[in-house]
Parts: sequence; C-alpha cells; structure tokens
Amino acid sequence: MVRFRWRGERSSPPSADEGTRRYMREFCEPQDVRPWPSGNGVPAVPGSSRQTHAGPSGPNPDRLGRHRCCPDVGLTLFGSPALSVVLANFPHACKRVFVSGGAGFIGSHLVASLLKDVGIERVVIFDNFSSGQLSYLKDTANDSRVEVIKADLKELSAVTSAMAGCDTVFHLAANPDIAKAVTQPEIDFWEGTYLTQNVLEAMRANGVRKIIYTSGSGVYGENPAVAFAEDYGPCIPISTYGASKLACEGLIASYCHMFELVGRAFRFANVVGPRQTHGVGFDFVRRLKADPTRLRILGDGTQKKSYIHVEDVLAAIRLADERATSIYDVFNVATDDYITVAEIADLAVKVSGLTPGETKYEFTGGDRGWKGDVPVVRFDCSKIKALGWKAKRTSAEAVTDAIKAMLKEINDA
Ligand code: NAD
Repeated sequence: MVRFRWRGERSSPPSADEGTRRYMREFCEPQDVRPWPSGNGVPAVPGSSRQTHAGPSGPNPDRLGRHRCCPDVGLTLFGSPALSVVLANFPHACKRVFVSGGAGFIGSHLVASLLKDVGIERVVIFDNFSSGQLSYLKDTANDSRVEVIKADLKELSAVTSAMAGCDTVFHLAANPDIAKAVTQPEIDFWEGTYLTQNVLEAMRANGVRKIIYTSGSGVYGENPAVAFAEDYGPCIPISTYGASKLACEGLIASYCHMFELVGRAFRFANVVGPRQTHGVGFDFVRRLKADPTRLRILGDGTQKKSYIHVEDVLAAIRLADERATSIYDVFNVATDDYITVAEIADLAVKVSGLTPGETKYEFTGGDRGWKGDVPVVRFDCSKIKALGWKAKRTSAEAVTDAIKAMLKEINDA
C-alpha cells in the first residue's frame, strides 16, 4: 500500500468491536441502541487488529445526543424510526468522504465537485491506479483536504484503515471493461462484487453510515421492447459485469437493512466526458489519431444507447443524495435520446477534423460489440426526474463534448 499523504489519526484499522462501539456511540445512544445480530459476537474483520487507543475524532453526539455536524436535529429526532436516514441525509453530515476509484474518470470529477463544497473536511481517495491516473487529480490532489491512498480494495485491512473517520462512502472502483470477462471470466467477481463486500465490511467496522454506489444498466439484461424502470424485473444480466453490479446492489441493500446503513445506487447509461478511460468514443478517437484512413467498429454499428455527460451524472448523484429519503434507493440516470455506434463514428470523424467519407469504416459484424454487450438499451428516468433532475446535454452533445475534450487531452499530452 502506498500512502501519498496521510492526515488520519491512526495507522491501523479499528477492530470490529471498536467499530461497533463507535457506531453505537455516534448514532445509537442513548435511545436507539440495537444489538448486533449475534449478540456481542460481531464477526471478525479479516486483517483487522485490536486497538487500545482512542478512535479518530468523529462526529460524536454530545450528551444530549446532538450530532456535532448537525446540532439542531439530534434532539428532535432521536427515537424516530427514520433517524438513521435523516441524519445520513443531512447535508452537513457529509464531511469526511471516502471515494473508492477516486482517481478514475467519474471518480476524479466527483472529487473535484465535492471539494467545491466548503463543508467538506476531508476526501480520502482510495485507488489502485489500474485504470485511474494521478494526473486526473492534478487539480485536486494538492488540496489540503485530500489524501490519496494507492492500495487495492481487495485488501480489507487497508480499506478499513483508510476509511476510519469518514462518514460517507462513494464506491466507484470496479473493473470498467465489460468485454474483459470473455478471457477473464472471474474478473467481475474479484474486481467488482468482492470489492463491494470489502467496502461494506470496512463501513460496518468503522461505523460509516452512507454509501453511494455507481451501478449500471447491465443489471437489467436485454429487453429492447421496454424502457427499463428501476422496478423492472426479473433482472437477468447477460454479462458478468451486469451480474456483479446486481450482486453489489443486493449486498448494499442487505447491509442497509441488517446494519443500518443508508444506500443509494445509480444505474447510469454510458458516461462520457473529459478524462474518459474507456468507451466507444475513447476507442474511436485513439484509432483515428493512429490511422485516419480507417476505423474499426465493433459489431454492425446499429447498437443504440444513451450517452450521458459526467456533469449530468454528478448533478443526479447530488440531487438524489439530498432528496431521497428511504434507507436504500436506486435511480436510473440517462438521457432521453439514443444514438448508434455508427453515428458516434461520424461524430468522431467530424470532431477530429477529418473529411466525412474519407475514413473507411470496418465493421466487425454482428448485432453487438462483444459477448455480454446489450445492443439496445432504453431507460425510464421518471424517478430521478421527479426529484428535479434533467440532463443538460443530449447523447450527441455529450459525445461531441467528450470527443473534443479527449482530443485536447491527447494533444496536450
Ligand atoms: P474508471 O476505470 O475510470 O474508474 C475506476 C477506478 O477504480 C479507477 O481509478 C481504477 O484504478 C480503480 N480501481 C479499479 N479496481 C480497483 C481495486 N481493486 N482497488 C482500488 N481501486 C480500483 O471507470 P469509470 O468510468 O470512472 O467508472 C466508475 C464506476 O462507475 C465503475 O463502478 C463503473 O462500473 C461505473 N459505471 C461507469 C459507467 C461509464 O460509462 N463510465 C457507466 C455505468 C457505471
């Protein structure tokens, strides 16, 4: 584990017992003390060590049960069944955040957006830099509130230690490449489901209350006849990536109900924007740079999907975080329109300054790009829209802006 900067109060993880005590201290006492499922036998956290010194300074309540971060709500709400949700939703409660995958595409934008909030005291970026890059953090890593930890979420003790003192987790780290499972079938379990289990266990051990999770449309499976709403079912994923996202949502929902967490999962369409690390636009821009005369296109080019700009995604996360009131909730986030892969190729050619028609498109054929690819995906986003969210860009506008940004990044490199 490489720690670029450490402002934390401890260097080793809290024990499971200590995590339980902190949880009780911070959120349950005095009226709302609920036993853990197996009496005081909280399952051991693999890799954790027993602590005898005091834990990190957290948002402890005062003797009247008032929460330091939100002094006005503690008195009136203790005893209410909705207490855990309200406290976790109170904007000031989000002060010390842990961002898994914070050096990646969406994560680095999220970190920049969080830091604009003066109420944020600390942002712990936990990333193994498998696809994330330190350069994506060049505008944020020097902020004194930021701590960048290079480590792998598969190491539970490292995650537990790094998360100490945080109140909210944004969990983004995962294998981003759906097609990789064709040759590495276990990848989405180890670099998806397993990571989420570790994140949740670290949260439980540390008494961290809220998790915001980046899921995806892969959970739904394939049904071009419908626009998927969040309550669509049965969800039958056709990729191990989608299976992992669905499993992770299930794990988060169950931890919310068993261990009093608050969870939000977001099922995004294809996210595009500056610092993209993968995706069709990313691929086309690089291929055209290498050889403008020809462009390989996976499938027959008719795959039709929604492409959403990363800024619209962040706006949705923030809004749902402020407005949602249930213990666990799921939101679709997509544009209302859809574009085909062939149309994206045309945009890439045009934005790259090439003459349309002079680049030869070479389709690999078939109705999808790779095994597990869902060629047509449509979303029903009424739920997030009912909270007041609306995408600012259409799919074509989002892709165009993303391609321009990626070209600039390549030229500046
Ligand atoms: P990304 O690859 O740019 O970011 C993932 C980050 O996680 C990277 O920085 C990577 O280094 C890190 N990471 C991966 N495995 C890790 C591990 N074992 N330990 C620590 N860090 C690890 O991808 P992104 O596009 O920013 O996606 C972020 C999240 O959003 C992912 O969960 C992805 O599945 C989800 N999502 C993305 C899209 C999209 O179109 N980009 C759509 C829907 C959902």
